[in-house]
Amino acid sequence: MNLQEAITGYLRFTGHKSLEITTALIDMDGVLYDSMKNHTRAWYKLMTKNGIKATRDEFYAYEGMTGTETLKMLFRQRAGKILTNDEAVALYKVKTRYFHELGEPNVIEGVRDVLQILKEHGVARMLVTGSGQQSVLERVDRDFPELFAQERITAADVSHGKPNPEPYLKGMSKMGAKPNQCMVIENAPLGVQAGHAAGCFTIGITTGPIPQKDLLKAGADLVFPSMEDFAKELPDVLSVIGFKK
Ligand code: CA
Repeated sequence: MNLQEAITGYLRFTGHKSLEITTALIDMDGVLYDSMKNHTRAWYKLMTKNGIKATRDEFYAYEGMTGTETLKMLFRQRAGKILTNDEAVALYKVKTRYFHELGEPNVIEGVRDVLQILKEHGVARMLVTGSGQQSVLERVDRDFPELFAQERITAADVSHGKPNPEPYLKGMSKMGAKPNQCMVIENAPLGVQAGHAAGCFTIGITTGPIPQKDLLKAGADLVFPSMEDFAKELPDVLSVIGFKK
């Protein structure tokens, strides 16, 4: 990790004069939960049953898009079919059922430490996810009590999912923070792109098969090989870019 280089690169890209983090905007799948394996399985099953050719691993690349966006894109590309919104919502419900049949995914090792460290440093924490899966969203309150702000951004709050910056721009505005006060925590290239495009200091963490270089290419300011590594470095990172009381 070269924090100084990352800061210099961030300030050059955004044109901001300073970086002082007050707020963390935090993704869910692949950041809080080790859920991507099950998502890719559920997607693959849904596509195959509907006669759409797909591979399981390609769904890692769509991580961050809303479910209905992914469905519309694949049906258009592979079957020349334009799904209506109602059709996409109905198919997404089936995908959600397949996902639940696979059981509850585990909490990512180290992420509770990350949230705790942010809290201790006075950094506000907000969930920003492309997911619309109600039961998983409810689980966040259960698994991370008092670690997240009441307000959150989900698929229901945005018209454009990641890589569009809209989810992060909306999160930022709900938290009353400016881009150079926000740290985005992401595990997937489209999510990193969204955070970067929103002008936030964007941290990529590999928690699945996506390589670190893909997160850097997507615009991550800093990349860590695991959530535990990030937790270890986070106090030092915040001592430099955290807001000073
Ligand atoms: Ca994710």
